[in-house]
Amino acid sequence: MDDKPDPNTFSNYSAFNIRSLHLDIEVCFDSKILKISTETKFTVKQIEPKLLLDTEKLNTRTVHIKVPESSDEYVEAAFELQTETSVGQALCIDLSKVGPLKVDQELLVKIVSETTADVTALQWMEKEETSGKEKPYLYTQCQSRFCRSLFPCQDTPGVKFPYTANVTLEKGLAVVMSAIIDGEGTATGENKMCYKFSQKQPIPAYLFAIAVGNLVKHEFGHRCAVWTEPEILDKCAYEFADVESILQIAESICGPYQWTRYDFLVLPMTFPYGGMENPNMTFLSPTLLTGDRSMVSVLAHEITHSWTGNLVTTVSWEHFWLNEGWTRFIEDKIKAVMEKDETYRKFLLNKEQKHLNDSLEEFERLQKPELTALVPNLTNRDPEDAFSTVPYEKGCMLLTYVESLVGGPEAFAPYIKNYVETFKDTPIRTKAWLEHLIKYFPAKADILKAQPWDQIFTSPGKSVVSIDLDNPLTNKCKKVVQKWIEASTAEDYDRMVAEYPDLKTWSQDLKIAILGTLREHELIWPEDKFEKLTGQFELRDTNNIELRTPWIRMGLKSGIDSSIEPALELVKTCGRMKFLRPVYVSLYENESSRQRAIDTFLSMKQYMSPISADWVAIDLKLKSEQA
Ligand SMILES: [Zn+2]
Repeated sequence: MDDKPDPNTFSNYSAFNIRSLHLDIEVCFDSKILKISTETKFTVKQIEPKLLLDTEKLNTRTVHIKVPESSDEYVEAAFELQTETSVGQALCIDLSKVGPLKVDQELLVKIVSETTADVTALQWMEKEETSGKEKPYLYTQCQSRFCRSLFPCQDTPGVKFPYTANVTLEKGLAVVMSAIIDGEGTATGENKMCYKFSQKQPIPAYLFAIAVGNLVKHEFGHRCAVWTEPEILDKCAYEFADVESILQIAESICGPYQWTRYDFLVLPMTFPYGGMENPNMTFLSPTLLTGDRSMVSVLAHEITHSWTGNLVTTVSWEHFWLNEGWTRFIEDKIKAVMEKDETYRKFLLNKEQKHLNDSLEEFERLQKPELTALVPNLTNRDPEDAFSTVPYEKGCMLLTYVESLVGGPEAFAPYIKNYVETFKDTPIRTKAWLEHLIKYFPAKADILKAQPWDQIFTSPGKSVVSIDLDNPLTNKCKKVVQKWIEASTAEDYDRMVAEYPDLKTWSQDLKIAILGTLREHELIWPEDKFEKLTGQFELRDTNNIELRTPWIRMGLKSGIDSSIEPALELVKTCGRMKFLRPVYVSLYENESSRQRAIDTFLSMKQYMSPISADWVAIDLKLKSEQA
């Protein structure tokens, strides 16, 4: 795995180094098409007759090329598409028209293309599907390999480029990008506006992002703002009021923030993830709007990506744990600072182990346990198939373990900043991470070298290394769990409720940990017992989806019919896969709701994000997974 090139790109990125990209984008809601012209500057690094770029279901119209050293004029270049695969195809551009190339020469390439219907990167929404029901909406999701369906590019995390963009769209709509807006926009043509954006920091293709809709913003201080539809702006302003202080805690851990502004967009319910770390414009799920600021850890996670992921980026999706494991690790450190309790990290790590176990089980079920290695082999695989909590949780566990080996949080703190500083300009792979770690801690080199690294990186299943997760908060939760498990009579249930009169006031994190553990036990709950639990945690009325999901799943598992309606309601309104998929699976596994789950999915599919829809189709056995 040492010097392996990215197996998930068709591009010959080591022959042609991208320097910069300019895009002219026209957003056409009527035809649901993005018309995109790109102008890319490359430096020739190896002489090859053809430039290969990634594309997927794209209509490429024209390609022009120029070598400024030998000519002022662009010439039209011949191009062809190589064989189509389930992860796209190479656009193969013949460079012979510009004469023999030389190493280090500049090559300019202009491509005019259009997106097609049903590409995974794009979510087009009719105005009726939005909160205000007045204007249509569009957003992109390019991670992992979907940027190639927007425009031809070197779609690998290991290649970064700065970009500028001019976006033309109809008047009355606002546009945001993973870039900083330049000015107020200018009127062009009939009822059209053009907005200019600039991303000066080099970013990989998967961080390209655009969203258009009836968007308004609320400013928090001088460098942060939330964008969203007007109907939920006040809720967002309240929920994320701590953004500046979270950003400052992150800076104290990782070093100065290097992207000027931190703005974020709260999307419609169809958004498939909790968050996506698009630079200068994080995308967030509205499921975080609980009204009690209890889910800001997702915001802390996305902020952290400003260093780990966006500044320090992996060479390929095989090393994705370096993005997500690090980010999870620092997210918990931020949360511990906010809670003023260092042991909170162990509690959070323990709590998330359930999601890791769920993922491990799912890969077993799909008969793909090899994808649960920390560094999986993704040759001839779709990186999307490997996406799960594994790189997050196994990665976070490994870093926590390493922290304990080198002397604990104090010894580890300066290393985090050094790691970011060292790798911010070079794509990183696991081997380089390990070499740097050992070099940074010379006094610990022996103990570090003695670890079973091969096994740590390549073994499927549970983490090879772990730390003792014993901590007071987990123990407090365990007691409640144990008592609920043992309770078997109506008197026991009443006693449970009487014994914890203040449980309603416990933090949401604690309640989520308790419910998650109870769910994991897969008990069959008698209806009266389930009702008592529901009352004790006020689950029927909670809008915290982290609580609703395990509660609904426990009910469905136990054959409790009153759980079916809330389950159907959840899958109809929530596109975030962390909740949507397990609830669909539970609906499917419960015989009396199976057909309704399928019917609901089929009627909702057209409104769902293509990413979620694809996965749910597999979960409901309506589609077999791609090999
Ligand atoms: Zn992340």
